[in-house]
Amino acid sequence: MESNGWRGGVPWSGAVTAERLGAAGERWADGRGPSQPAPKLRRAGPANSERVGPAQWDPRGGPVQRGPRDGWRDAEPEPVDFGEPQVDPRGRRLLFLLLFWFAMAASVELWYLDTPPGSVSGVGAILTAAGRITGMIAGFVLLAQMLLMSRVGWLERWIGAHELLIWHRTMGGYVVVAVLAHVVLIIMGYAVYEQVSVVQESWSMLGAYEDMISALVSTVLLVLIGVMSIRFARKLVPYEVWYALHLTAYLVLLLTYGHQFADGAQLMHQGFGRRYWAVLYFFVIACLVWGRVLRPLRINARHRLRVVKVVEEAPDTVSIYVGGRRLDRLQVRAGQYLRWRFLVRGSWYQAHPFSLSAAPNDEWLRLTVKAVGKHTEDLQYLAPGVRVMIGAPSGVFTAERRVGHRALLIAGGSGIGPIRALLEDLPPGAVIIYRAGSREEIVFQDELEYLARERGARICYVLGSREDPGPKRVFTPRGMRELVPDVYRRDVYLCGPAGLIAAATKTLKRLHLPSRQIHLDPFEF
Ligand SMILES: Cc1cc2nc3c(=O)[nH]c(=O)nc-3n(C[C@H](O)[C@H](O)[C@H](O)COP(=O)(O)OP(=O)(O)OC[C@H]3O[C@@H](n4cnc5c(N)ncnc54)[C@H](O)[C@@H]3O)c2cc1C
Repeated sequence: MESNGWRGGVPWSGAVTAERLGAAGERWADGRGPSQPAPKLRRAGPANSERVGPAQWDPRGGPVQRGPRDGWRDAEPEPVDFGEPQVDPRGRRLLFLLLFWFAMAASVELWYLDTPPGSVSGVGAILTAAGRITGMIAGFVLLAQMLLMSRVGWLERWIGAHELLIWHRTMGGYVVVAVLAHVVLIIMGYAVYEQVSVVQESWSMLGAYEDMISALVSTVLLVLIGVMSIRFARKLVPYEVWYALHLTAYLVLLLTYGHQFADGAQLMHQGFGRRYWAVLYFFVIACLVWGRVLRPLRINARHRLRVVKVVEEAPDTVSIYVGGRRLDRLQVRAGQYLRWRFLVRGSWYQAHPFSLSAAPNDEWLRLTVKAVGKHTEDLQYLAPGVRVMIGAPSGVFTAERRVGHRALLIAGGSGIGPIRALLEDLPPGAVIIYRAGSREEIVFQDELEYLARERGARICYVLGSREDPGPKRVFTPRGMRELVPDVYRRDVYLCGPAGLIAAATKTLKRLHLPSRQIHLDPFEF
């Protein structure tokens, strides 16, 4: 049945009908539904507060349990407003980049205004000037780095959480290089002026200048953070160690502030330069305090979340239903993720990101967790009633980010969670490619097929190993066109393991799909 790599034509789910496509013997499993306008699903809320056993299947593979198991479908349909596709986000990104370069140029300009013409002559003066400029660049990029990770809502909406992460990673290397260049150039410049060795100059600087020890500490910490963020080094330590080291970046910011204002030639005296940098620091610290502390505190005080029930979806995967007060006022959308902290022994100190696996509603939120390590294993045994703290909703993997009216959703592994939620929010006519190793790995089959019927969507299960010819062929331009002939006109939402995202993105690029039509949600930090 699955020997040729495609999910074959046996009706292993009630809604699945087989369709022959492509070469003889190759078939797609296809959950095509009616194309009437999609109704909105009103959810009835979890029926009870207890852990529920695995989903059961009848001999033909159709789901046995219906609405009461998860409470999301036993309600009358009501109309849904899908809204218009959004305005191209590239304009906002460009604006942010312009502001970034302008503010950086203004920061460095202070050195220019403060330097009399002709005063930079001789090796010592040139080295010192270069040291001061690189110091200002390093200080500015460090501030920008902190801003990018401040989790303020406006910035995530402008740029996108994943883009912010990529920018942060890329700029991390530049900060380290700029800081090291600043240290080396300043020491060499002063050593030339004073005609002493570099080692002698280093020692005398540490003693002679205020806040120089703290500058040394912050440089060491920054280099450590930079080195430990290199992909290969990061894999050597547990996530928690890496994260704790990253938290010292706040100390780096504080120490750098002290060093800049105590020793920086352009900042140590009162004047425009000092005020300008003080405003930059104030702005970034205000964003950090709001995005990382005050906003989450406000959300948790308002909603007071608790686990309502835990439902087993597959042997290593559970859905956790979380209830709370005034959930209608929690501004979260299908496709977004939150950082969840479950207040039980052994877990309360860790916040992990998980996406919503059903569109939010007034009564509960749902996340679906696959066990991959200690924390996610512990979550499989959560008891109802456990208090839950969340961070502010993040991510722009949402229906409002689409640029057209039709979507192609590609999911693999636990990536099906946000894709399943998105399906509720997208206009009719979506196509879902669900990639899994075998049929046992598939979760939400009944929900997906119900939604597909209601929303006129089509589900294609692509099963088998990476080496199987079927799955391989889907991720070729020809295979993709065969499966989704109008792929060019669709917004593509991709969520799953890194390998799947890389393969699918490569195929879409080869099909010349514009990048603004490709929306990614890789589960990575
Ligand atoms: C934006 C985003 C959304 C996600 N949504 C889902 C989802 O809906 N369902 C799901 O099953 N998984 C999701 N994940 C993955 C999930 O967060 C990790 O599998 C989980 O944190 C692993 O924790 P662990 O301690 O059990 O495993 P470990 O073995 O300790 O970690 C496995 C890997 O997970 C990452 N990780 C570990 N702890 C954290 C943390 N506190 N914060 C961020 N990353 C961490 C690290 O890269 C680590 O290498 C998502 C990840 C991201 C980044």
